[in-house]
Amino acid sequence: AARPAADYMAGLNAAQCAAVEALDGPVLLLAGAGTGKTRALTTRIAHLIAMGRARPGDILAVTFTNKAAREMKERIARLMGETVEGMPWLGTFHSISVKILRRHAELVGSGTMHLKPSFTILDTDDQLRLLKQLIAAENIDEKRWPARMLAGLIDGWKNRALTPSRVPPGESHAYDGRGAALYAAYQERLIALNAVDFGDLLLHCVTIFQAHPDILARWQQRFSYILVDEYQDTNAAQYLWLRLLAQAHRNICCVGDDDQSIYGWRGAEVGNILRFEQDFPGAQVIRLEQNYRSTPHILAAASGLIASNKGRLGKTLWTEAEGGERVRLIGHWDSEAEARWIGEEIEAFHGGHRAAVGKRDLNDIAILVRATHQMRAFEDRFLSIGLPYRVIGGPRFYERQEIRDALAYFRLAVSPADDLAFERVVNVPKRGLGEKAVQTIQREARERGLSLLEGAAAAVQAGALSGKAAAGLREFVQGMGRWHADAIDSQSSHVELAERILDESGYTAMWQNDRSPDAPGRLDNLKELVKALEGFENLQGFLEHIALVMDAAEGEQSDEVSIMTLHAAKGLEFPVVFLPGWEDGLFPSQRSMDESGLKGLEEERRLAYVGITRAEDLATISFAGNRRMYGQWQSSLPSRFVDELPEDHVEVLTPPGLYGGGFGAAMAQAGTTSMHERAARADVYNSPGWKRMQDRAAERAAPVHRTPIVIDAEPGARFSVGDRVTHP
Ligand code: ATP
Ligand code: MG
Repeated sequence: AARPAADYMAGLNAAQCAAVEALDGPVLLLAGAGTGKTRALTTRIAHLIAMGRARPGDILAVTFTNKAAREMKERIARLMGETVEGMPWLGTFHSISVKILRRHAELVGSGTMHLKPSFTILDTDDQLRLLKQLIAAENIDEKRWPARMLAGLIDGWKNRALTPSRVPPGESHAYDGRGAALYAAYQERLIALNAVDFGDLLLHCVTIFQAHPDILARWQQRFSYILVDEYQDTNAAQYLWLRLLAQAHRNICCVGDDDQSIYGWRGAEVGNILRFEQDFPGAQVIRLEQNYRSTPHILAAASGLIASNKGRLGKTLWTEAEGGERVRLIGHWDSEAEARWIGEEIEAFHGGHRAAVGKRDLNDIAILVRATHQMRAFEDRFLSIGLPYRVIGGPRFYERQEIRDALAYFRLAVSPADDLAFERVVNVPKRGLGEKAVQTIQREARERGLSLLEGAAAAVQAGALSGKAAAGLREFVQGMGRWHADAIDSQSSHVELAERILDESGYTAMWQNDRSPDAPGRLDNLKELVKALEGFENLQGFLEHIALVMDAAEGEQSDEVSIMTLHAAKGLEFPVVFLPGWEDGLFPSQRSMDESGLKGLEEERRLAYVGITRAEDLATISFAGNRRMYGQWQSSLPSRFVDELPEDHVEVLTPPGLYGGGFGAAMAQAGTTSMHERAARADVYNSPGWKRMQDRAAERAAPVHRTPIVIDAEPGARFSVGDRVTHP
């Protein structure tokens, strides 16, 4: 059907045009990666305005990340040019909720206690401090019931839009049956402080909408059109929020892909997308099948992989594009070799030395990792070869809280006069030193012209503190004395010292006892930090390196490689994508499989699908034979996802150096389904390359653990997928 298409519609296919033009009533755009869902969504906004259906301010568009919101704003500005004034309400659920909540803050609370429009948004540290006070006030043992776990519980309830009075009785058994009571107390304290936490932003909006139909009606009128991107990742509270706002006019358009649902662990419910037609009867469901992003090999590899998931809606994807490279697969000796190789590849692409890829800007290249602790190897490598990079969606490795804490300990051990480091860690973990105690130390130091650490020693000597504070501080000062002596003793191992400092100070234990979901990741990061020390002569040298790293990280550069987690990459695209760390246990992550079984594994597989489908021209998957995880060198096996890639669309590269011709060559011999079977069949486990790998593992691990590493499997043994070769 030929029709005069507006400029902004030029090039859209028929299904996309349908999605853009179906302005009235509920619309679900359900389609696979790279099919132009987001593009259709932004075009819809332009169309609404161009057709005079809505002014920009009448439109509400929800994205998943702030980065996506920014990108969408740019897309819309490009589409609409300078012709329209104002912009739609465009942002994440949270950023839009803040704006709404500021206007009705006084409706939150009861009696004389109400939120004010100037409310502050608490960060996690403040939140925990508050919860700790409440737990203590209830005389509950915080060791048994840590504040972080309560924070996780409350967050979970808020994700489900449950106010304290609505928490199901069965879920309140934690905290000696006072879970919901603590939650209620916490909410009261927040209001008294004129503060909200992140989860409150949505919860309060929903509560206000439900309690004040007049206010809800105003917002329903105001937003005459609602659009939602990445709908598969909405949680129950967000879903309720949307339904309340949309139920009057029902002009809601949601776009999503059930195969890209990756936030189940945070309460997102993929069921929301499957239920759309029931919730909004008469909804139009539009499917898109043409992919505009990736080459056929990339698409086929991703589709082949996701086919292993059960219970999918199922989708067809095709592309007009032809040619292109297969997805490249390469195994490395260890995670450092992996980082080195990727660095070299990027330099080659950047310099235009690879005909098949063409000359590439660094902005065209992304490294997508499963776990944040993987980033360090890349950051260190890129800094040392001077390759500009940026880390998206989270602090850089050396800026993380636990890393800064640990570095402060090391700094203080090396330079006892480092007062900033002292202040950072003197009460981390908690040593019973309140503000008063710290002031006493500061006064002591100031009056006698001492460093804070010396001041602390003097305060202990003089008996200026009492009780728990005195004992805690004495232990800290004595520990520092020992660690300092070791730090300046060239005979002692600085790697061991670092581990000892973290153990003896109670810092490691603090995170081990922490039951919050991010605690295991922080422990991994700490181990990663200790591992980084191995490359240096002593602590001092390492700290100098870090100071430079932090410094170099300052300047803004425009052409940079992007490093981010797979989660942060959702919705984005890059011509060249590296996917490192495809090893069983890391990806799929052991933790998510342990916690959620098959469901966890399938979510991991969707994450892999998201990763591959970010690539336009070239995707490179890699794994390392050795990686230090949980403080031990482990010979890891390639991810089961590697086995699930359709072989026709994969090219196995031979790694440079050490065991080229071993692992790599074995993998190239196609014919069986399992990589490990293939390796065993090619007698890799008897090959000199594999033996060298074992020897090197022993060598590397020895200085740390002082016991030679033995791989507890017979050479030549058959491995089945998921088997793990561990060191004792
Ligand atoms: P994801 O599931 O990863 O979020 P998506 O379905 O939202 O993907 P988009 O990001 O909208 O896909 O589009 C993918 C790429 O294809 C973009 O570069 C977009 O500009 C391009 N594209 C979309 N539709 C068309 C079209 N009709 N013609 C040409 N290019 C298109
Ligand atoms: Mg998209």
